[in-house]
Amino acid sequence: MTERASSTDRDVEHHQLLAHGCQNDHFTVPGHPRCPACGEPQEKTLDLTKKTGIVKTWTRVAATPPGVREPNTLAIVEFALEVDTVSMLGGTIEQVSLGEQVRPVYIDTLRDADESVRQGANQSWGGFRFEPVSPDE
Ligand SMILES: [Zn+2]
Repeated sequence: MTERASSTDRDVEHHQLLAHGCQNDHFTVPGHPRCPACGEPQEKTLDLTKKTGIVKTWTRVAATPPGVREPNTLAIVEFALEVDTVSMLGGTIEQVSLGEQVRPVYIDTLRDADESVRQGANQSWGGFRFEPVSPDE
């Protein structure tokens, strides 16, 4: 296991949604050893947990694999950063619409571990889904 992977495990434990960035402030979720935009190493992280993003597009999957909720609504959410934006794919808590503001919410169990081909005590089943931010917040 690489150093990057073990730091990601720790992040999940603390329930942070992290974007990974290079020295040129290009960020991605998930991270890569090298920045897809410029090839520099991704050496810094940015916590998106308390930020809100915008729904760029979404889809509802009606026929899902074993252990995955059905239907499963997924959205691509874009977060505005200081220099650039970062987009990520994630499930949603409820129905969302284009352009809607959403925030990440930690979910202990994203899918049924008993139905997964990836088994083992070290597997984490938690992660983030997006929920709409009401206008008065
Ligand atoms: Zn870069």
